[in-house]
Amino acid sequence: MSAITGVLSDLHRVLLSAESIRARVTEMAHEIERDYSGKVITVVVLMDGALFFVSDLLRQIDLPIRLVTLGASSYHGGMESSGQVKINWPAGVEFAGQDILLLDDILDTGLTLKALRERLLSEKPASLRTAVLLDKKRPREHDVPLDYCGFEIADEFVVGYGMDYQGRFRNIPCIGILKP
Ligand code: 5GP
Ligand code: MG
Ligand code: MG
Repeated sequence: MSAITGVLSDLHRVLLSAESIRARVTEMAHEIERDYSGKVITVVVLMDGALFFVSDLLRQIDLPIRLVTLGASSYHGGMESSGQVKINWPAGVEFAGQDILLLDDILDTGLTLKALRERLLSEKPASLRTAVLLDKKRPREHDVPLDYCGFEIADEFVVGYGMDYQGRFRNIPCIGILKP
């Protein structure tokens, strides 16, 4: 495989190597496949940060999957989050009675996933579970029950493997901390 090394020079430190991410995502796929055996999973994925996570994960789950992508943005006023999340809700998608797996890249304050969970639960799905690649260890303002989690990380701003800083760095194959 050709190595992408130029983009790595933007990183101060690598937190999770591409190999360790691959191994853990494979484990998560097997876990999800076992838990949803015999079912059709409606995967609801938050774009764009979870782009590579969902791509690598779903291609290793040997079950029928309906994929729904959506965007959400939260408005933060000063140091405190305002508690408002704007969700681009998809038109014409049936969630009632479905087994939904909500996927995101990283759980930080919990604001976004909490709002999305509440919105999805109002559609009366058969079940709703949540999976994130990263769980930031920090005091959590909004409680979000996690069913699947790739890694717990310290409270630092990370980029790579889909996650950006001002739209950049998503294509870094590992996860790391940017240079100051
Ligand atoms: P929350 O609503 O949990 O505070 O924010 C979650 C969203 O903020 C994530 O889905 C992600 O898009 C973004 N986010 C939170 N922490 C980080 C981080 O360390 N790096 C990047 N690139 N995005 C983050
Ligand atoms: Mg996100
Ligand atoms: Mg972002």
